Amino acid sequence: MVAERNRIITIANQKGGVGKTTTAINLATALAAIGERVLIVDLDPQGNASTGLGIDRKHRRLSSYDLLLGDNSILEVAQETAVPNLFIVPSTMDLLGVEMEISQQSDRVFKLKKALASEDAFRFSYILVDCPPSFNLLTMNAMAAAHSVLVPLQCEFFALEGLSQLLETVDQVRKTVNPHLDIQGIVLTMFDSRNNLAQQVVTDVRTHLGEKVYHTLIPRNVRVSEAPSYGKPAILYDLKCAGSQAYLQLASEVIQRERQRLAA
Ligand code: ADP
Ligand code: MG
Repeated sequence: MVAERNRIITIANQKGGVGKTTTAINLATALAAIGERVLIVDLDPQGNASTGLGIDRKHRRLSSYDLLLGDNSILEVAQETAVPNLFIVPSTMDLLGVEMEISQQSDRVFKLKKALASEDAFRFSYILVDCPPSFNLLTMNAMAAAHSVLVPLQCEFFALEGLSQLLETVDQVRKTVNPHLDIQGIVLTMFDSRNNLAQQVVTDVRTHLGEKVYHTLIPRNVRVSEAPSYGKPAILYDLKCAGSQAYLQLASEVIQRERQRLAA
């Protein structure tokens, strides 16, 4: 296998509220904290990753919209965050119209891939793409551009059903636009140990998907849900809380798997 010069990971799940953005922000922060240079591309028109990293709307002059359209380069659209080594391409509401604007273009699925193909993208060792909660053209762009997909899965009854849909989509993407797309891993989120159903979901997901599922379980944690309203990753807001510690552990698992993959 050819070693890539960076790792582009799409964080996707067609369901909303499963922890995609929280995972993007906190995994990115944890990776940055251990010395990786990380870029988040906020591809959700809601812009939660941008807000959660303290980039308020009036400071989003250029955005992922400009990047997708090819009007601006990655270094022009990337902004610093309060976290050293962590940068973000914020999103704006313009993204809502982008599907219409590019839908007739033959390279409509490859807009992000083209934007990330520049030499400047190699300044970041990890690029995490935060997706909207649907299989729309934005998510397809993210999957076409990525080396792998990381799937946050909420520990609830319909988790497996949604997951099989997502895995089918990844298969389709492999057959059509990105033959090398990997599953980076599945991370179970908002786990509540007092809830028997959640325990059952963990067992079922592990039985079905084995090693693809990270050992780290992200617990449901109030501090994690409070952090975005302060414009901070949980890891900055409260490093000691169980949620932050879990995301640090997840980052070390991601890095460990990357090392194994590159060594294989
Ligand atoms: P998505 O991006 O998939 O829509 P979010 O990451 O925005 O999901 O999470 C949905 C909601 O759940 C947010 O309000 C977020 O703060 C909260 N949340 C996410 N992860 C946790 C967690 N581990 N503990 C508590 N609340 C969480
Ligand atoms: Mg989100």
